[in-house]
Amino acid sequence: MNSAWIEAAKILSVNPTSQVKCPECSNSYLEVSDQYIPGQQIFERFIKCPKCNGSSILRMTYKPTV
Ligand SMILES: [Zn+2]
Repeated sequence: MNSAWIEAAKILSVNPTSQVKCPECSNSYLEVSDQYIPGQQIFERFIKCPKCNGSSILRMTYKPTV
């Protein structure tokens, strides 16, 4: 993962509804989908560009809601 992806991932890990331009092609906004793992405290957040198919996966931990 290059630094542009890391920056995009950082934003989307905090706010998955943010509109973040694809770090590779800059032609589209990244799409986010979460894949939950039953019985675990973690889930995977897939980040994908619909234009160039660039993608990245974040491993997320549930944050306790207040
Ligand atoms: Zn792209």
